[in-house]
Amino acid sequence: MSFKDLQLRKTIRRAVAEAGYDTPTEVQIKTIPHILAKKDVIVSAQTGTGKTAAFALPILNSLLDQQDAPKKGKTIKALIISPTRELAIQIQENFKTYSTYTNLRTAVIYGGTSLEPQKNILKKGIDILTATPGRLLDLHKQDIVNLDYVETLVLDEADLMLDMGFIDDVRKIERLCTREKQILLFSATIPHKVEYLANTILNNPERIEV
Ligand code: AMP
Repeated sequence: MSFKDLQLRKTIRRAVAEAGYDTPTEVQIKTIPHILAKKDVIVSAQTGTGKTAAFALPILNSLLDQQDAPKKGKTIKALIISPTRELAIQIQENFKTYSTYTNLRTAVIYGGTSLEPQKNILKKGIDILTATPGRLLDLHKQDIVNLDYVETLVLDEADLMLDMGFIDDVRKIERLCTREKQILLFSATIPHKVEYLANTILNNPERIEV
C-alpha cells in the first residue's frame, strides 16, 4: 500500500515524501479512505502510530478538492481540538509540513499567551485551525473565530481531553459548528465516557482500532 493507492493528491504526496515517509502506517491505511469518503470515525490509536497524518492528510485533500469548486470565503473549514498546548503546536507543525505545496492556510491558538498575535492571524482568514478548548471559546465569544462553516471537526486525544475536564467545552464547541459536519474522534483508549461522547455526537461512525 502506498500514499498514491490512498488516492491522495500529488501536492500532498510530494510533501509527505519530503518528510521522509515511504509508506503509510496501519492507522493511516485503515482510516484515510473513510475520512475521504466523508464518514465519521472513532479511532483508537496511541501517539507514535502516525495518527496525526491519518486525519491531516485527508482533510487537506478534501479541502483541495473543494478549491476546484467555487470559493467559500475566508472561513474555518476544519477545526482540530487538542487538550494541550504542546500537542496543538505539534499538530499545527504537521499541517504546515503536509500543506507546503498548497495554498491552504493553517494556524494554531492556545491559552497561556497573549491574545493579540493570535487574533491578527485569525483575521487574515484561516482554512484549518488547531486549538485548545478554552482559548477557542474565548476568541469565539469575542467574535474573532467563526465556526459556522466548519465541515470537519477533529477531537484529538479525546480520553485525555475528558480527563482534563473539557467535556462541557467540547460539547459547546461541537454545537457551535454546523450540524452536517464530519466528526473524527481519536483517542488512545476508549473508556466509557469517550464511548458515551461518541454515541451522542458522532453519526454512524466507522470504528478503527490499531
Ligand atoms: P503521531 O502518531 O501522529 O504523533 O506520529 C508519530 C511520528 O511518526 C511523527 O514524527 C510523524 O512525523 C511520523 N510519521 C507519521 N506517518 C508516517 C509514515 N507514514 N512514515 C513514517 N513516519 C511517519
